[in-house]
Amino acid sequence: MALKNKYLIDLLETVKKRNQGEPEFIQAVTEVIETLEPVIEKRPDLVEAGVLDRLVEPERQIVFRVPWVDDNGKVQVNRGFRVQFNSAIGPYKGGIRLHPSVYIGIIKFLGFEQVFKNSLTTLPMGGGKGGSDFDPKGKSDGEVMRFCQSFMTELCKHIGADTDVPAGDIGTGAREIGYMFGQYKRLRNEFTGVLTGKGLTYGGSLARTEATGYGLCYFTDEMLKANGKSFEGKTVVISGSGNVAIYATEKATALGAKVVALSDSNGYIYDPDGIDLACVKQLKEVERKRIKEYVATHPNATYTEGCKGIWTIKCDIALPCATQNEIDGESAAILVKNGCWCVSEGANMPSTPEAINTYLANGILYGPAKAANAGGVATSGLEMSQNSERLSWTFEEVDAKLHGIMVSIFKACESAAKEYGMEGNYMAGANIAGFLKVAEAMKAQGCV
Ligand code: GLU
Repeated sequence: MALKNKYLIDLLETVKKRNQGEPEFIQAVTEVIETLEPVIEKRPDLVEAGVLDRLVEPERQIVFRVPWVDDNGKVQVNRGFRVQFNSAIGPYKGGIRLHPSVYIGIIKFLGFEQVFKNSLTTLPMGGGKGGSDFDPKGKSDGEVMRFCQSFMTELCKHIGADTDVPAGDIGTGAREIGYMFGQYKRLRNEFTGVLTGKGLTYGGSLARTEATGYGLCYFTDEMLKANGKSFEGKTVVISGSGNVAIYATEKATALGAKVVALSDSNGYIYDPDGIDLACVKQLKEVERKRIKEYVATHPNATYTEGCKGIWTIKCDIALPCATQNEIDGESAAILVKNGCWCVSEGANMPSTPEAINTYLANGILYGPAKAANAGGVATSGLEMSQNSERLSWTFEEVDAKLHGIMVSIFKACESAAKEYGMEGNYMAGANIAGFLKVAEAMKAQGCV
């Protein structure tokens, strides 16, 4: 999309100059700025208040050394990050990514996305994100614990239940959250809801584990219904095999679809009989093994090395739940050619701008990440509420609230897109609806 508005063109130029060497961040900002053009034309007051100029600059960025000792007694050093992006509508909130690809540009793109996503949830949460280039893969429990304790020893100075509430993301699951929470409690001598995604014995919420995957399917189901379609009898390809992919598979299957593929960072499995989720859960959640082990017990299934090929599998609906930019223009064109008519995003920014253009040009029903995967952080917000009132809600209660939130997110995207002349473009709708709440709050609070 080519921008015409001079103010936005200049703003994007400034962002590009100021954030050189951070292509993921620039990509995330560009997408948002391009879809906000009609809003900016209608709302000179927001330009006057410098809302967008402030929104593209994180409020605070913390970068720190994370030293830890490995099982051989050798000192290892990783780099830790926390980007506190925007606190206009609530305390900073967002996950911690542990992956070797992590650098400041990745954390900034994730933090920026989080601002809009959290706004869409309707809950009072600002946006933030953290992480480290530490790779938990292949590390012993002891090594992971020592890393998490060292990471929290610095991070605890910057977070708090009313300040900034981290959670999981790629590489950070229940084990890591447990170690981080334990260290925070020990250092601060306080038991508060400072992290979400906690275990059920120490303040976690029922349905938080399932929330991102279930929420993705609730959102997608709503989008399908609005367009006279459903999951019933459809073939679905899902990438990834972490928490999001596993529970998206569970819910899509419950809604009548057949999920035929899953992947990890090494390759993908294709099972024409439909994925045996109990086996995947055992492999990934219990044994921490690679997805290729699946074919050893499923003779009809095949394993293919490499990730990109998963998008050549014929499907009706694709749910990318692995990582950023996993669907490029070429893969998107193959999906369309093979008859795929819906793409809904469980991962953060899994589609490149070329892929998104291909979806829009071909009338694909496209559920953008900020809206479609907001169920995880929404349920984190519900965990915060339960911690504040020192009560635990039932699974059914949390799941029903999550469902209601995902329906309202879809409605907000649908109506914002319509109001600004882009009916059916839920990406534009998500950006506009997410932006407006934060923008009003920023304007009301003055130049801070
Ligand atoms: N990392 C998840 C996300 O991308 C969850 C964040 C949270 O629960 O705070 O939204």
